Amino acid sequence: MDPVLVVGAGPVGLTAAAFLAHAGTPVRIIDANAAPTTLSKALVLWRRSLLTLAPLIPPAYWHSVGEPVLAACFADNGELAAQLQVPAPPGYTQQPHLNAAAAAAAPSASEASDAGDAAAGKDGQAAAAVPEQQQCGSVHALPAGMLVVQADIEGALVTLLRDSYGIEVQRNTSLAAFSVAEDSSSVLCTLTDTDGSNQQQLRASYLVGCDGGRSAVRKLLGVQFAGTTLDQRWLLGDFRYEVDAAVNAAHTPQHPCEGSLQRSTLFISPTDVGLMGLIPLGKRQGQVRVIWNADAHCPGEPTMQDFQQLLSTHTRQQMRLTEALWLSEFKINERQVQSYLHGNGRVLLAGDAAHIHSPAGGLGMNTGLQDAANLAWKLSLVAAGEAAAGWQLMDTYQEERHPVGAHVIRMSGLLLRANALRNPFVRFVRKWALRSLAAVPAVANRMTSAMTGDNICYSHCSLAAAAPAAAGGAAARASQTATAAERQVWGCCKPGAAFPVVSIQVGGVEQPAAVLLLSKPGCFGTLVLMPAAQQQQQQQQQQQQQQLQQQADAAEGGARPKAGQQHAAWPSSWGHWPLDVVHVSDAAASAAGGAESDAAAGAAGGADVAVDAWGLLVAAVAGRAGVGVLVRPDGIVAAVGGPDEVNGWLAKHVVTSRDAAA
Ligand SMILES: Cc1cc2nc3c(=O)[nH]c(=O)nc-3n(C[C@H](O)[C@H](O)[C@H](O)COP(=O)(O)OP(=O)(O)OC[C@H]3O[C@@H](n4cnc5c(N)ncnc54)[C@H](O)[C@@H]3O)c2cc1C
Repeated sequence: MDPVLVVGAGPVGLTAAAFLAHAGTPVRIIDANAAPTTLSKALVLWRRSLLTLAPLIPPAYWHSVGEPVLAACFADNGELAAQLQVPAPPGYTQQPHLNAAAAAAAPSASEASDAGDAAAGKDGQAAAAVPEQQQCGSVHALPAGMLVVQADIEGALVTLLRDSYGIEVQRNTSLAAFSVAEDSSSVLCTLTDTDGSNQQQLRASYLVGCDGGRSAVRKLLGVQFAGTTLDQRWLLGDFRYEVDAAVNAAHTPQHPCEGSLQRSTLFISPTDVGLMGLIPLGKRQGQVRVIWNADAHCPGEPTMQDFQQLLSTHTRQQMRLTEALWLSEFKINERQVQSYLHGNGRVLLAGDAAHIHSPAGGLGMNTGLQDAANLAWKLSLVAAGEAAAGWQLMDTYQEERHPVGAHVIRMSGLLLRANALRNPFVRFVRKWALRSLAAVPAVANRMTSAMTGDNICYSHCSLAAAAPAAAGGAAARASQTATAAERQVWGCCKPGAAFPVVSIQVGGVEQPAAVLLLSKPGCFGTLVLMPAAQQQQQQQQQQQQQQLQQQADAAEGGARPKAGQQHAAWPSSWGHWPLDVVHVSDAAASAAGGAESDAAAGAAGGADVAVDAWGLLVAAVAGRAGVGVLVRPDGIVAAVGGPDEVNGWLAKHVVTSRDAAA
């Protein structure tokens, strides 16, 4: 098979290449730059992105290179207007413990898996105390986001590609031209060294343009990048700083948020000289990003002194900038291509090549990473000739991701404009409104989930089968005995939604359920079998083995299951794709069965066992303890139900070898 060519080794191209390689699809990735970026650029991986990357990199890994986002402070001229507290995930205090166990270097899949094991206590370390459910404050078991600089995210993905899949980014190589074959069977690409020398031809099965805002792929397609460039001048600086009370004698801080930048806290403040934001650079202690809509207030090339003046005069931040690490200026574009698919589905666009927008909300890279994961598993199926809908499966990439891109452009534009208003009366009203709204938990949750991506859902798109009705009695249980946390996630696990990131115990240690998604290379997603379903699976496997034995006894060499037989049982594979099967048991069964149930599950196929100690995963599937949850490789729930629903989804979308042979 010709390889898929990914153009651009930014975060989006690297993610696409890693997911393609994980699925066993031949892939090449090129980049015009001679070396990876060392610039910080994007600073936050929101919760949805942590979940999206979980099949490749366990969420615990990010604690070794980043810090969780715990609060956002909204101020006016530096004076605090409102503080949005983002609850720390349950068990967050355990993280230093996890960090110690996690490898310091970027993970390979085996390293990643080791980190997950260590985090899960599989190495036999004593488990930390399980936090009280009431103390959680939120059912989310992952932080709202992790402050990690883009260079470190790219570094982790480059290492993963190299160490786990043997793929090196081909650097100093540009895409100069391409054409789709007349019969649309491939894409002929012309690659050159970045200086234009050493031309070579490459036949690719598909071309994925992840080459950023100035995308050559998009330009070569002649596709319009419709939208506007805002008439605003933005300055950016990354600095080392020290906290120095003498710097800002004019303004006495009223709140810690005003005094010196707090760890894990974002600080946004309109000022008399333009909107500004302060973001700590994650684990890079004593380093901060300052971003400033300076317009005419800072006409020349920006200097560290200009930023110091801004902080000292127009905020109450008592920090002294000591070294400029990166100074830059930029304009904001709000643009999106109409279609993410071109050349009869052979050429795809993702990330900044497909959509760009204001940095407000820190959503650009996050949206692109999710594009990449969404397209990669579909492309793997299509490229292998194993998508039941053929290349039209790629239409669902457009169907699911284009509206998300459009929404992000609207939302980040709105955020930017609302914060940039300078009229004193409007500023007064905005301060009052922010203070009031942030104090209402439901509003605060909505504001947070707009950033984190928790609310992105494809349940109305064509890959989401209709959710089966909740079992009788579930609603009664919800109202009578369910805890507040259970009610909060009641029924949230449905086709098209993200796999719930509630707490689960693995090896006796509290973990985000996202750890269940870390999958073995070559697997098509994960099948999470809820309590009772695993016992059912064991019985089915025993019955199947008995039947096979009887058949083998009856007819020499004829040990084949009858047609349709696999549809009655939980699948452990489909076509040539193995499924990562994970067993969940409830607290009672686990206490009763203990090591026995672990051993039984191991004998049933070496699957992992997790304990739904809080009942949150069961609550997420609306109390139906015997169901299975089929999770797509991008962390989205494909099907929830019994073996028929799960097999039905697979049969509808993935060709089996039997289908292919027919
Ligand atoms: C200052 C700044 C702050 C930001 N802050 C945030 C934030 O907090 N959160 C967030 O989510 N996003 C943020 N972003 C946006 C984020 O950086 C981008 O959305 C992200 O980099 C897009 O990733 P990408 O892989 O699509 O493109 P890029 O990162 O631009 O990567 C494209 C790659 O393609 C390569 N390339 C280009 N043309 C060719 C060619 N012809 N052949 C081969 N290779 C080619 C380039 O060398 C580059 O490596 C920020 C951006 C900037 C500049």
